[in-house]
Amino acid sequence: MEKDLILDEIEKNREEYIEFLRDLIQTESYNPPGNEKNVALVIKKYLEDANIECEIFPFGENRANLFSALNNRFDRKNLLYNGHMDVVPPGNEEEWKYPPLSASIKRKKIFGRGATDMKGGLAAMIISLKILKKLDLKLSGNLLLNAVADEETGGTYGTGWCLENKLNSIKSDFVIIGEPTGLSPLPKGIILGEKGRVELKIVTNGISCHASVPFMGKNAIYMMSEIIQNLDKLEENMPKVDPPMSVDELKEQMSVVFPNNETFENILQEQAILQDIISANAQFAKNLTMIKGGIKSNVIPDSCEAIMDFRLLPGQTTEHVLESMKKLIKDLGYDVKNEPTGSPEDVFVYLEVLKKGEASYWQDWRDSKDLETFHSIVGEIYKKKPIYFILPASSDAEHYRNTDYCQPTILFGPGSPGTAHATDEYIVIQDFIDSIKVFSLFAVEFLK
Ligand SMILES: [Zn+2]
Repeated sequence: MEKDLILDEIEKNREEYIEFLRDLIQTESYNPPGNEKNVALVIKKYLEDANIECEIFPFGENRANLFSALNNRFDRKNLLYNGHMDVVPPGNEEEWKYPPLSASIKRKKIFGRGATDMKGGLAAMIISLKILKKLDLKLSGNLLLNAVADEETGGTYGTGWCLENKLNSIKSDFVIIGEPTGLSPLPKGIILGEKGRVELKIVTNGISCHASVPFMGKNAIYMMSEIIQNLDKLEENMPKVDPPMSVDELKEQMSVVFPNNETFENILQEQAILQDIISANAQFAKNLTMIKGGIKSNVIPDSCEAIMDFRLLPGQTTEHVLESMKKLIKDLGYDVKNEPTGSPEDVFVYLEVLKKGEASYWQDWRDSKDLETFHSIVGEIYKKKPIYFILPASSDAEHYRNTDYCQPTILFGPGSPGTAHATDEYIVIQDFIDSIKVFSLFAVEFLK
């Protein structure tokens, strides 16, 4: 009964929902610098027109977070929907076939920056709040909406700030972050955990001199080369952890969508990318991605700088990476400093964490009835059973899981990560509409 009401309501208002999403895409919120307040104001107007109260928390220059809820009671069951308002900059706009702020509709898709990541998911969540309000269903809990800033640059001022300042007195029993989880050609994914990421700068500081008398100096590029050759020792110092889902478990998740195991194995053999995704999810990864050093062909370089990118499993932290790296460098006989400067005669290595996003994972997902409900709603609406998966990149979920605010935090939303951050980013309109159905139906089931 409620279900029919909701599905009817969505069919009737399809065009309005599409226009609202286009409005969000057309509202510029490139991060950096952010400008999320532009989007917050559009959302506020939309919610207030639907008689839903909404608070904006401005900060910095034209930036803001937004909080809203179905009603004013927070002492019963709460379901929290989270979506970020910032998008990555468009890069070279000339390369876009449809301008990034145009939200052009072509071939049943909407094109534009943020269509997939994640104004599509954010719009769907906001709309589901409006639908619940309008239909005035008898619910015994509250649906909360947190539209946040700063996700693309770590979330400290977005989800992190909201947790400490708005949600500190409001508990949540289940959190959904509306990030794109399409895994085409596979069915939709429900993401239960993420790997962490650390971007580490390593600077070797040697002593400069003329190349004709190299023994008077200390070659910083050679120092870096020593470190690089020993990088495999890094893992010895890292804590040994089991991946949240083993390779076999991940394969099993994927295989259920194929008619039989033989078909799946054949496809797996042919599609190297599937194998790579599976194994990336189950292991620690380290990569040296940038390096520069030297100023002139006849000068011994006194400085060499490298950037490393680490992908961590839940249980491994930024601190672990830093400590392991320090040990490796000290074992080579070099001092490690936290300051980049010293006298020109100092030989040392300087380490700096440039970016970090910690890994996180919902341990007890297998025992959750709520997750089962969510899984079956997605299966019904998308006409294919979704699969449980781990994200190889980091997201705002770590703020909820790692602070123990709410372990049952999942990622689910319209769009495919493959088109996120890319030129001509798009969302398939039906996918967007289907996600509105999922968010609305689940909220009703959860808060009944
Ligand atoms: Zn995103």
